[in-house]
Amino acid sequence: MQIVLFGPPGAGKGTQAKFISEKFNVPHISTGDILRENVREGTALGKKAKVFMDNGALVPDELLIDLIRDRLQKPDTKKGFLLDGFPRTIAQAEALDPILDDINKNLDAVVNVDVGANELISRLSGRRTCRSCGATYNIKSNPPKVPGVCDQCGGELYQRADDTEAAIKHRIEVYQKQTQPLIDYYRKKGLLIDIDGEREIDEVRSDILKALERLQ
Ligand code: ADP
Ligand code: AMP
Repeated sequence: MQIVLFGPPGAGKGTQAKFISEKFNVPHISTGDILRENVREGTALGKKAKVFMDNGALVPDELLIDLIRDRLQKPDTKKGFLLDGFPRTIAQAEALDPILDDINKNLDAVVNVDVGANELISRLSGRRTCRSCGATYNIKSNPPKVPGVCDQCGGELYQRADDTEAAIKHRIEVYQKQTQPLIDYYRKKGLLIDIDGEREIDEVRSDILKALERLQ
């Protein structure tokens, strides 16, 4: 299965990606996670990406297209993949097709997780992320068992630099201007699956898994 998990920042893509990648046994490829790792390690890509990310802007297309080309050529994508956070612009979506041709793959579905702006602001301002394994929690809707400690690996939970009020608002605007047009792009290709993401985590998970099982 080759799946794109699509939606605004805070829709729950990372949360749901964990379930989908386990269920279908495909790697979860989050461009945000890969970029944050590069920032942490101080690579050339990380240095270029950091100011865009901290401000809630998109990192330039050419950097993301190179990143995803390299990542999709790794052997673990032979069994499929789950893209989270890519593509985010029409240019990225157009660049994805020849990259997939090169590895003899097609997209099976684009899962569009829909959540309104007010709920996104509330979710992102309460988000806490594990420094070690990247798992996400929410101080209100999805708290860890012990505050500040990851349930899965015991790592330290932190608040992302772009989960501040100003960066959250900017990210939602950037999504509406640059990323939302992809909904029509993929609907026209017959790939879009709409999911109501403004419900409990388990309900959203069950809807996504049911829709994807129908494709198999
Ligand atoms: P994304 O990867 O789309 O940016 P996340 O998966 O990191 O979003 O989720 C954003 C925040 O919202 C996290 O704090 C997460 O725990 C919380 N969250 C995810 N899904 C739901 C949901 N269905 N209801 C309430 N909170 C949720
Ligand atoms: P995310 O973890 O998906 O919320 O992404 C965090 C940040 O990484 C975004 O706000 C962007 O700055 C950057 N980013 C991640 N994916 C992309 C992408 N496909 N195109 C451009 N920037 C991206």
